[in-house]
Order: sequence, then C-alpha cells, then structure tokens
Amino acid sequence: MKSPICPFDAKSGVLCARCDEKLHAGTITQDDVEAAVTLTRIANKSQDVDKFTLAKAARVDDEYVLVLRRSDIMSIRSNPALAARIEKEFRQKVHYTESEASERGFVESLFYPARVLSVNQFYLPDGNKVTKAVIAGSKGKQKIDVEKIQRMASAVKNIELLVEFEQK
Ligand SMILES: [Zn+2]
Repeated sequence: MKSPICPFDAKSGVLCARCDEKLHAGTITQDDVEAAVTLTRIANKSQDVDKFTLAKAARVDDEYVLVLRRSDIMSIRSNPALAARIEKEFRQKVHYTESEASERGFVESLFYPARVLSVNQFYLPDGNKVTKAVIAGSKGKQKIDVEKIQRMASAVKNIELLVEFEQK
C-alpha cells in the first residue's frame, strides 16, 4: 500500500526522521499518518487494500475523509464487507474521495449517495473564490449534514462550499 509515509513507518506506527520532518514542516498531517497506519493494518489481511494508494486523509469532527484512487474507491463500494471493516478499524464513519477527481467529482463524492445537480465556481466581490453545489431533492428527507460537508471540503481541498437544495 502507498501512503504519504513510508510503508515501514505505516507498519510500525513510528515515523522515520524523513517522515517526521515532513510532519513538522506541514507537508503531511497527523491525520495522514493515523489513516496510513490504520489502513495498513487492514492491508495486512486484505490484498485489495494492499494495492491502495492513500493520497491524503482528514478528520472532520467524528468522521474521516480518505482520498484514494478511483479504482480503490470502486473496490470498496463493490464490497460492503470491506467498507464495514474499514469503518470498524477507523471507529468512525469514513468518506471516500478520488485523488484524480475534478472539483465537481470531489464535491459529488462528499455528498454520495445524494445526487449533485450542478457545481459552479464564482468569485465574491471581495475576491474570494466560492464553489456552489446544488443537490437533488430536499434537504429534510436526506439528512445531509451540510456544515460537516463544508468543513470536509475546506479541510481536504481548501474549498469554500455553498450548498443549495433543488427543493426547499
Ligand atoms: Zn518514513
């Protein structure tokens, strides 16, 4: 398995001098390290997970966002037992987003399985860039935690996300 830290560090849970330096420099985060160690523990018993490439991880409140390749996410979504296993090891709800995805693909993955109708970027008068997503259906029925998704978008990709629903 590939991750932001060396395979040996991910197995032992202890960072080598080089990875430790990256952590202190802010190139990688404590969330990246913890997710790499946890996923590696699962990879020891799963050939599928052993092929994964973890690009980044971010913990938002009590949930994890893992940034993986599209093929990795497909193998999780087609294997409910594996998905359950990962959430059990992380002891948290886990969201998956694609490392190769466009901004639209990234936003869609945060709302999955809800359907995203459109994703548009625009600039506010103060020059800040904002991304607006319109979600199919109404907010009430889908139980989507909009604020949490906004914090995930900010934590993983530094996106300021505005969310609207098709129906009020
Ligand atoms: Zn290392």
